[in-house]
Amino acid sequence: MRIGAHVSSEGGLPKVFERAAEIGADCVQFFASPPQSWRSPFHGETEVAEYLARRADGGATPQFLHSIYLINLASGDEALRERSLRSLVTYLQWAARLGAAGVITHLGSARDVGPEEAQRLITETVGRALADSPEEARLLLETTAGPGATFGSTFAELGAVIQGLGGPPRLRVCLDTAHVFASGLYDGTPAGLDELLAAFDAEIGLDRLAAIHFNDSKSAFGSRVDRHANLGEGRLGAAGLRPFFAHPALAKQPFLLEVPGRERSGPEKRDIAAAKALAQGEEMAADEGKSA
Ligand SMILES: [Zn+2]
Ligand SMILES: [Zn+2]
Repeated sequence: MRIGAHVSSEGGLPKVFERAAEIGADCVQFFASPPQSWRSPFHGETEVAEYLARRADGGATPQFLHSIYLINLASGDEALRERSLRSLVTYLQWAARLGAAGVITHLGSARDVGPEEAQRLITETVGRALADSPEEARLLLETTAGPGATFGSTFAELGAVIQGLGGPPRLRVCLDTAHVFASGLYDGTPAGLDELLAAFDAEIGLDRLAAIHFNDSKSAFGSRVDRHANLGEGRLGAAGLRPFFAHPALAKQPFLLEVPGRERSGPEKRDIAAAKALAQGEEMAADEGKSA
């Protein structure tokens, strides 16, 4: 079982391995460029060479890139859709160059064009992103909490994109524990997890699951509000999170924390420790994962 986190790549790509090691992350996720900006990632040859050297030298594995937040493959504005496509393609190229296990992305919102057209546009644009990027780069579609008309809050929506493209092996799924709780897909019980995974298997196929975002949820079950909480501080709590570690179907998944941390600067050593304690079947220590 590999437990890691999203870390900052500020100051250069090699920093992600330093930061992962500092907090005890076995695997890692990061942005290749500022997520609130359309600016393309730029990393020079020396930086990439150093990144690859650290990766080879026992750096946290696997690595995932997370796409920028601005992407909307179902925008009614064609220029914005094209920009979103270019950004995804660029990230997939970077994933290939960095030897990453894939790019994790949200797909956008149906608010401009309605659910049916959104489904069509997203399927078409994901297909173009795969066609225009290196074969070895995987794309992971992330489950969303579903605020507003956000696409991807049901497995059927994600499954339809994958099947609409003929099920290319490069297309995978990332399941976010906070999102499936807020979307109403997972009720926080072991029986609920069995149901969740059965639904995933029926709509998508469990062999497509390639990563877990392991977060507690500040917002309530079925609220469709996307707010991550530190482990044990949200509505899922230890009882709602532990079943993911106990489930045999998930034993080989990389678990990535995207919790706010005490300083709201991202996952800290104590957050990873809290997750590892849960995975061992231990209670989280009183202060582990808790805000000061
Ligand atoms: Zn995400
Ligand atoms: Zn996530």
